[in-house]
Amino acid sequence: MRREQHPPQQKPPAQSVHSLQFGSKAISFELQYQHRKTLGITVHPNQQVTVKAPLETPLEKIEEKVRKRAPWILRQQRYFRSFEPLTPPRQYVSGESHLYWGRQYRLKLYQHPGECVKLKGGFFEVYTPDKARAGSLLRQWYQERAAHKLPELAKPWIERFEQYAVKPSGLSVKWMQKRWGSCSPKGQIILNIELVKAPRRCIEYVIVHELCHLVHPHHNRAFFALQTREMPDWQKWKDHLERFLA
Ligand SMILES: [Zn+2]
Repeated sequence: MRREQHPPQQKPPAQSVHSLQFGSKAISFELQYQHRKTLGITVHPNQQVTVKAPLETPLEKIEEKVRKRAPWILRQQRYFRSFEPLTPPRQYVSGESHLYWGRQYRLKLYQHPGECVKLKGGFFEVYTPDKARAGSLLRQWYQERAAHKLPELAKPWIERFEQYAVKPSGLSVKWMQKRWGSCSPKGQIILNIELVKAPRRCIEYVIVHELCHLVHPHHNRAFFALQTREMPDWQKWKDHLERFLA
């Protein structure tokens, strides 16, 4: 009896990296085979793409699916990339981009006897007799904006939380190294001034998070249930905001 010749059975590696071309763009992704029923694609805030596929799915099939979702993948990557300019340390020179309320503005420095900062068109215009002062003028501008805009944005949320019979004892803004916001046991909420650089929904996520602490001090199940009830897509805004923390 003849034995049939089988090619040696090759198990797909648990993890591998692949790349495919979509128009002028290359999309590379990490492929993970898992015990699961459907294929899942994730774009991480660092723009890496992970594809989780059911065991035994042929590579062509996976590539076909990735290709189908390519416009969405590229859109997600673009979205996360828009926050990258924040990472390098700021020099406060003309041409550099700075963020406000989720939008980028180019810095323009003007030698001028008086000092002021103006947001005009797509530009941050800084007037100063000494250009080395641009950084501190800009920081002061952010601080003034934050002191005005953050409480204004929080107001309707504070009113909304009255349904849970809670109210912050105070709301203030501060430069903070490691946190976006805090809520003291006495109900004092502090928001990071840096937040005014973020898109409105990211700021609202922090406000909602701190207000939830008035109801539930700890990050327990009840806390997250309340946060999800008040902002069902909070995870998206949290991920987005974390691009800022270096
Ligand atoms: Zn918290």
